[in-house]
Amino acid sequence: MSAVPALPPDGARRRRSRRLWLAVAVLAVASAALGLRRVERPTAPLLPIPRASGQPGPLGLPADARVLVFAAHPDDETVALGGVIYRLAHAGTRVGVVFVTNGDGYERAAEEEFNLRKPTDDDYVALGELRQQEAVAATRHLGLRPQDVHFLGFPDGGLAELWRAHWLRTQPYTSPYTREESPPYPGAVNPDADYDGMDLTSVIARVLEDFRPTVVVIPHPYDRHPDHVHTTYFVTEAVQHLRGRGVLSPTLTVLTYLVHFPSWPAKRGPLFDRFLPIAGLPDSTWVDTELTPEELTAKRAALEEYRSQLEVMNGFLRSFLCRNEIFATLDANVLSRIASIH
Ligand SMILES: [Zn+2]
Repeated sequence: MSAVPALPPDGARRRRSRRLWLAVAVLAVASAALGLRRVERPTAPLLPIPRASGQPGPLGLPADARVLVFAAHPDDETVALGGVIYRLAHAGTRVGVVFVTNGDGYERAAEEEFNLRKPTDDDYVALGELRQQEAVAATRHLGLRPQDVHFLGFPDGGLAELWRAHWLRTQPYTSPYTREESPPYPGAVNPDADYDGMDLTSVIARVLEDFRPTVVVIPHPYDRHPDHVHTTYFVTEAVQHLRGRGVLSPTLTVLTYLVHFPSWPAKRGPLFDRFLPIAGLPDSTWVDTELTPEELTAKRAALEEYRSQLEVMNGFLRSFLCRNEIFATLDANVLSRIASIH
């Protein structure tokens, strides 16, 4: 999670639409591949997936599924799908989480955490280090080991800029918070990468190539946080590159999750997360999974590790501690619009 800046205006028409068209087929088959129950209407109640004994594994995934989750910031993975990560990990499914940023550009969190009026660049790096530690502790509650969690260390609040204005390696980006031009964090996947779009795509591709996922979980492209949206753009870019080389399967399943959207998640009963107010989110096929008490307990324990975030957005974060987690596949219209952006 990170503070939600104002939405940027849509940029000029961009290139690379054909690569994103390749993602259409991927998303189109995802729901069928998972055998999930489909929610036809946005205002309809979301139905639980049957989980009787003897049924297929979690979410209908095959036992040998390899699931790679991408999160723009530490805590997004827990609030959006902490229960499902726990379920998969404890069923023996290989799960990895990739944090694209360390959430080091959250001014209010830095002020609160360090009791400062005006954080310095070193304070923002310290916040990023703290959030990295919180993420390792949180995902441990979800059944993941430290080696299952990957930190790219790219600039919080800067992913849209990398996509739009700092794509080329000749146009590096400097974080206005940390003043860094490359990942400053211990254990970053590639600390020598520069803050530009090409390097971020390369680092993501490296993780994908090492992990060889059969399922990728990314933010919904209509999420209102630019870091979330552009996480999905960069992952899509890398996925298409690797599919073109035959490294990733054409049948790779892609699921999306939503964190930042008006009225989401519903915070009060009786709607308590049982309906998704997605009037502004067309083109999505929603699937729903009901959490067991054990899964919800693990998700709550994971969230408690994100103390730096609970200090500043406690109510919002806890509103995700509900009985279900919801995912969407997208139709071709969504991706064609995405393709027109870049
Ligand atoms: Zn976030």
